[in-house]
Amino acid sequence: MNMPVMNAPAAPPATDPLDSLFDAMFKPMNAQGVYARTGAYESVVEALAAFISARRDESTEIFRFPPVMSRAHLERHGYLKSFPNLLGCVSCLEGSESEIRGYADRHLAGGDWTEGLETADLVLTPAACYPVYPIAAARGPVPEAGYRFDVACDCFRREPSRHLDRLQSFRMREYVRIGTPEQIVAFREAWIKTATAMADELGLTYTVETASDPFFGRLGQIMAFSQLEQALKFELLIPLRGAAAGTACMSFNYHREHFGTTWGLNLADGEPAHTGCVAFGMDRLAVAMFATHGETIADWPAAIRAALKL
Ligand code: ATP
Ligand code: ZN
Ligand code: MG
Repeated sequence: MNMPVMNAPAAPPATDPLDSLFDAMFKPMNAQGVYARTGAYESVVEALAAFISARRDESTEIFRFPPVMSRAHLERHGYLKSFPNLLGCVSCLEGSESEIRGYADRHLAGGDWTEGLETADLVLTPAACYPVYPIAAARGPVPEAGYRFDVACDCFRREPSRHLDRLQSFRMREYVRIGTPEQIVAFREAWIKTATAMADELGLTYTVETASDPFFGRLGQIMAFSQLEQALKFELLIPLRGAAAGTACMSFNYHREHFGTTWGLNLADGEPAHTGCVAFGMDRLAVAMFATHGETIADWPAAIRAALKL
């Protein structure tokens, strides 16, 4: 018997305004927030990277970091106090050939091979600037002019989401400043100005607001409050969902003496160096460009394509 077509009320579709851009930017890879990137999307990421490089201070040293870093270093950074929920840790099958073969064979027999995994001395890097502080500290006292670094890294954070502006694996680019409190404050002020001018040139709408890091747990709320109160973090937020709160596409961070103390990174007078960084979320910026200007790059305003040499 033919069943009549039912007009049962469907559950409201769990759609997000960014979803319609998915095919232009990404292909699925069987995990939320882990996507293959299309050529068009990647051309925007590369153009944005060059746009950022063009504004690099002359005396800046460049490092590009691998997507993994020393677990001991991350522990020393205090990451487990702040964001243990976001951390991804490398684990591997260790042992003799027969032990490793035994675990692999369990999988072939339908069993659980992952029981054989052992925690390695590596973690997935959660922020691009972490590896630079021990490198700077190993050089001895910070020179009077301080340091400027340009760093980048594929970052991992365990925050699976169906939203295309929150990935588990994403690219972060940063300019880092190490020196006196005055040097860091001046660096951050200058970068907030430069970054907003960049957003203007890219035709992006934004606000710049004080922010706090999403520190873990109840104690984290107190840490976040103190961070807000001291205005240690600003974000450039781009509205990607109409009137809803914007998405943080850049952040401007003042860590005070935290990394200086952690790494014995001292000024010539023996005081711990202060540090700060400006972070560009490369994937969020690219998503913001598609969300703002449309899925076809050829249709973007000429001035914006010219600015990005696209
Ligand atoms: P949010 O509050 O949105 O989680 P955050 O405060 O954790 O951001 P930062 O730690 O300041 O972000 O990281 C620097 C930049 O990296 C952010 O401004 C953003 O552009 C980008 N970023 C952070 N988390 C993600 C993510 N899950 N997916 C894509 N980009 C991200
Ligand atoms: Zn940083
Ligand atoms: Mg976050």
